Amino acid sequence: MRDLLAGVTRFQQRKYPELRSRFEQLANGQQPDALFITCSDSRVDPVLLTDCLPGELFVIRNAGNIVGRQGEADLGIAATIEYAVKALQVPQIIICGHSQCGAMAGLLDPASASSLPDVSKWVASAKGALEATPQDEDVDRLTQVIRANIRLQLRNLMTFTAVAEAVEAGRLVLKGWLYDFENGTVDVLSPETDQFDTVTTGTV
Ligand SMILES: [Zn+2]
Repeated sequence: MRDLLAGVTRFQQRKYPELRSRFEQLANGQQPDALFITCSDSRVDPVLLTDCLPGELFVIRNAGNIVGRQGEADLGIAATIEYAVKALQVPQIIICGHSQCGAMAGLLDPASASSLPDVSKWVASAKGALEATPQDEDVDRLTQVIRANIRLQLRNLMTFTAVAEAVEAGRLVLKGWLYDFENGTVDVLSPETDQFDTVTTGTV
């Protein structure tokens, strides 16, 4: 097992001095650019992916980037969404799924998670994604489920009163992303076509 405190020492010696003034400024409060909801998977790093700095992303992570519906969602998730939207007034929420998602593989093949009862229950809460997958015939079944889960969680977000009110008032935009960590690409869900389009360099 690696001693991660060695990494803390490197952070203190190299990175922290570069960011000291930023952290001092952040002591006065945060105004993040987004609530970023993604999977706990170690291969997904929201700050690295978006080239953000401390203070710029407010993050929820769990297995499968699952939100759930208001009233049914995990209280920690609901509270964090409420805080992001009402207290921090984030201008955007991004649901970011990713390639090779183990949680979505578990949803697709429940037998693969049969020895993990809590994982099974958790991913089953996204089973609506299974019912809504056949429209993406250009990709494999797992990618279809990953995409459908992003669409499902965006719909679930809109069941939260605070989210729906902010969207309707034009203060908040919801976005769906699919990050392929093997290629470093991000496919963005188009609100117009409900399809995922690959973002190419220079278009954002
Ligand atoms: Zn995942």
